[in-house]
Amino acid sequence: MSALAVSGLNVHHGLLHAVRDLSLSVGKGEVVALVGANGAGKTTLLRAIAGAHRPTSGKIALAGEDITSVPSHRRVNRGIALVPEGRRLFAEMTVEENLLLGRMAGRPGPWSVAKVLEVFPNLAARRRARARTLSGGEQQATAIGRALMSNPDILLLDEVSLGLSPLAVDRVYASLAHLMRSGTTILLVEQDLGRAMRVAGRVVCMLEGRVVLEGPTATLARERVTEAYFGLGHGAAAHMPAVAAP
Ligand code: ATP
Repeated sequence: MSALAVSGLNVHHGLLHAVRDLSLSVGKGEVVALVGANGAGKTTLLRAIAGAHRPTSGKIALAGEDITSVPSHRRVNRGIALVPEGRRLFAEMTVEENLLLGRMAGRPGPWSVAKVLEVFPNLAARRRARARTLSGGEQQATAIGRALMSNPDILLLDEVSLGLSPLAVDRVYASLAHLMRSGTTILLVEQDLGRAMRVAGRVVCMLEGRVVLEGPTATLARERVTEAYFGLGHGAAAHMPAVAAP
């Protein structure tokens, strides 16, 4: 049974049809990278899975249970944790206080402040620092740590590398690799296609709200993913988004 199964999902922003009849499943312990150009609908999909945006139609199931109409705070309790784009920490609270908020929102399980600091060792010295004083990488580590503190069955990560220095990105991904090896189920949005294909077992490529390509990273040629990313091979020069190659 899938850890997460999305079927026939449609999500709108007013008149804009951002996610179109989308189906996707993530197996327990699997790491799936969601890629696609700006505006493809990746963030909208993650927010709909987390319950932050109500879909127009379709179904979202967690470990076989339909959670489509469960409100977002109860989804955390059921085992879904979203690390949103932009991190959204409480700036005046310390790292530790931000982490503890994650535990309050979640459910009992193995994660503790000490365990988060083990996975993100650069946070240990910053434990009592206010979130607003942290570097971008430290903020991202805190945001991921806060999500882990809710003891999720599936972690949704939205563009963890956004705005970070290359060194900070490497650090965050080194910690994520540790989580991945320990069997955490992850669905992550990553703009850097090379990195996405290195860390994930499977890649799902979205274009204009739809899945246009998916497959195991071990067998998918990067060129095919790049083509799907830009809507090439769909007779779709018109689909080509105005962004630099990933
Ligand atoms: P990015 O990489 O830029 O974050 P994305 O693949 O995550 O892109 P979304 O942010 O989900 O894409 O956006 C999908 C579409 O929905 C885009 O056309 C975007 O302009 C639109 N959209 C997203 N959020 C809103 C909103 N709050 N109100 C109106 N339209 C929105």
